[in-house]
Amino acid sequence: MKITNTCLSLLFAVTILAGHGTASAQGNLFEGVELTITPVAGNVYMVQRPGGGGNIGVQVGPDGVLLVDSLFDPFTERLLNSVKQVSDEQVRFLINTHIHVDHVGGNANLAERGVVIFSQENTRLRFLDERSRIPRNGGTFGPPHPEAGRPLITFKDEMSFHLNGEDIQVFHVPPAHTDGDAFIYFPESDVLHLGDVYRTTSYPIIDVYNGGTLKGTIEALNMAIDIAGPDTRVIPGHGLEIVGRAEVIEFRDMILDIQGKVLSMIREGKKLEEVMAAQPTAEYDADWTDDPGWGPEDFVPIVYSQLGGSGRLADR
Ligand SMILES: [Zn+2]
Repeated sequence: MKITNTCLSLLFAVTILAGHGTASAQGNLFEGVELTITPVAGNVYMVQRPGGGGNIGVQVGPDGVLLVDSLFDPFTERLLNSVKQVSDEQVRFLINTHIHVDHVGGNANLAERGVVIFSQENTRLRFLDERSRIPRNGGTFGPPHPEAGRPLITFKDEMSFHLNGEDIQVFHVPPAHTDGDAFIYFPESDVLHLGDVYRTTSYPIIDVYNGGTLKGTIEALNMAIDIAGPDTRVIPGHGLEIVGRAEVIEFRDMILDIQGKVLSMIREGKKLEEVMAAQPTAEYDADWTDDPGWGPEDFVPIVYSQLGGSGRLADR
């Protein structure tokens, strides 16, 4: 399908109704949930679910469709129906930004349809683990990722896709959300997908169980700020808004401020409980606690331990 500019504007926030497929046990949780596809800029769209979790980048054009992330397993048909609203071309490639199931859960379904999957090599290694791990509630275990969903092609530092008139750049960033995080930059469309290193809903989730670090989070955000220009549109891993460079700077600066406060308390010899009681995130809590599973009680202990603080609650 040839996409015109008029057509693009008419397609704003096309709503896709849920499919009628048989729902698995996991699928019941997602039954009736609708996905939307929204133009971002140029050839790039974003597919998202209510609440804005696991936002998918979609680049379209005559060479075929490239996806960034695959959402949960039960969403694959709805995801492909969303893509069909803006392109009749085949989905050919999928890049995973990192290992979490809300970003790779649809991999096996897409592989079955002939989509070739790429990731940073550390992310592929996580697919081989006997159990998957998520950072919430102190590192919860989940079932293993299916073998059929493993990326077929990996990169170490960076790779490029030459597709639909763009030289798409894929970078490995310092260990931030996980140790296999990738950023994807579409230079002609001027769109940057940051995976879960950047989110608009909460404090950064630093998944130490999958190799994430505070230092790497700041370094990776600095990379994003360097890459982004004044008009760059940024797709967050979670959140309903498409943002720009200024919002990424604001997020980075918030983390730096909280880091500075926690570090000075560590230098004063404060225990974690004392740091928590001092509420180093207080001025940000109103804006950055939209994710009920990741508040200051989750974020501050990680900042504390990442900065070398010692003395757990139980040590007192
Ligand atoms: Zn994640």
